[in-house]
Amino acid sequence: MALVEAVTAAPMESRRLRLSSPATLERIGEFEPATTRTVSEVIARAREAQPAWAALGVQARSRYLQRALDVLLARREAFIDQIVLETGRSRLETMFMEILPACDSLNYYSRRARKMLRDRAVGLHLLRLKRCKLVFEPLGVVGVISPWNGPFILSLNPTVQALVAGNAVIVKPSEVTPFSGRLVEALFKEAGLPPNVVQVVLGDGETGAAVVEGGVDKISFTGSVATGRKVGEACGRNLIPCTLELGGKDPMIVCSDADLDRAARGAAFGAFMNNGQFCCGTERVYVVDSVADAFTARVAEAARTLRVGRAGGDPRDEYDLGPFIAQSQIEIVERHVADAVAKGARVVVGGRRVVEAGQYFYEPTVLTNVTHEMLIMREETFGPVLPIIRCGSEADAVRLANDSTYGLSATVWSRDPEQAEAIARAMESGSVCVNDTSITYGALEVPFGGRKNSGIGYVNGEAGLLGYCHAKPILFDRLGLKSEWVWYPYTGEKLRALGRTVDVMFGRPLRWLLS
Ligand code: NAD
Repeated sequence: MALVEAVTAAPMESRRLRLSSPATLERIGEFEPATTRTVSEVIARAREAQPAWAALGVQARSRYLQRALDVLLARREAFIDQIVLETGRSRLETMFMEILPACDSLNYYSRRARKMLRDRAVGLHLLRLKRCKLVFEPLGVVGVISPWNGPFILSLNPTVQALVAGNAVIVKPSEVTPFSGRLVEALFKEAGLPPNVVQVVLGDGETGAAVVEGGVDKISFTGSVATGRKVGEACGRNLIPCTLELGGKDPMIVCSDADLDRAARGAAFGAFMNNGQFCCGTERVYVVDSVADAFTARVAEAARTLRVGRAGGDPRDEYDLGPFIAQSQIEIVERHVADAVAKGARVVVGGRRVVEAGQYFYEPTVLTNVTHEMLIMREETFGPVLPIIRCGSEADAVRLANDSTYGLSATVWSRDPEQAEAIARAMESGSVCVNDTSITYGALEVPFGGRKNSGIGYVNGEAGLLGYCHAKPILFDRLGLKSEWVWYPYTGEKLRALGRTVDVMFGRPLRWLLS
């Protein structure tokens, strides 16, 4: 049974999608996907609303974000209820993966955006008779397309950045978690934002494609590599910028001097958090031979203690792993584990569904005797499975970790900060955490983005925020001085004078003056 299924097979104009809880399989809602026509109307309304929003200025826009933070704090429990209903994950996980970073995003950008978006005077090294001011203008209307595995925060965080920069935003959340995504619209509405500055359209891939093709000025996409390619192609065709935050296959390197207790607990948390449905989840472990047995024993022990359960199933709501979001996810995990076992992997812990909890629950699983020929090491698994490979040395571990088409984030575990930094630098990865799971998405000061197939561009940090702007240099004459000497008419005399000037300016004695 699919958790989101078509109620009718009719053409798009009259389609309805029905939603079921991944935990209980009960019906939890129905909605009509927005059609191409609806999406066009929504974009037109956003375009109308955007100039006035931009004209408010960054300080006034930031005040709205502060109000939205007040609303979020006041409505926190209701928001968690909705997210838990659609994802089945625990309230604690929802609090730290959704609510806390959402509060931080609203607070951080509303306090820092003014500085990041300020006009800048830029000294020009060649055009010294000019004065340059660099200003940052909003792009216009931004489309945010988000996945189901962080349905609120991954819709909200790009929206906050686009908004504070002066854009209007259309959010298209995943069809699997549409109402968690729609909380973004409710939040800003309650915070009193002008109408149509933030709108959420519900729908599946067709609605997403309609947003991309509908005349927006940028797409901020978070999702799988396969969809990211389609979105990137469509943005290329429409000549609009996009950021693509895509899938990962994050490696973890455990050095011979690692604190094994912490590394093992970190491996379990990194791999099993959100039932493994985390873009920066630990999907591959490379452990140096001398500590491999001790590390694996500790990870296995940590995995055995975890409780699989579901919201409502446990009156204290105390469980560690919730359900998969969809049938397709559990099928990927089962296919990867079966392929690994067929090729010689050993299941140390787990490896089967937990039918007592429900249809979509799976045991936290640890595999050894793993090789790079197995799907479990090549493709994104997105489930609670931790495959472990033994390596002869740290250098071997780095080589294997880099042998991947993905490059989202990575972790290194060592007591020696110099060694850890050298390994971090050598890893082909968007970011690296030392002695911790991948938490870079929560470091709003720095850009977050993938390398290789894991994405293009950044969210977060100044680089992420400025990605929602056009950087426009404005050049003025300085001190009323004017330079026209290469203007028409062209003459031989001018050519010779220019040649002499180029020789002097870029000759060895003086070129340093131009740097
Ligand atoms: P997905 O690619 O299936 O869907 C993502 C979104 O794209 C959904 O809203 C979907 O409706 C929409 N969509 C589908 N087809 C489209 C099209 N042709 N045009 C426009 N939009 C379209 O991804 P998913 O299964 O929802 O999410 C899981 C994936 O997201 C994993 O691969 C995970 O690693 C990745 N992810 C990446 C990050 C990151 O920051 N890099 C964060 C979270 C999740």
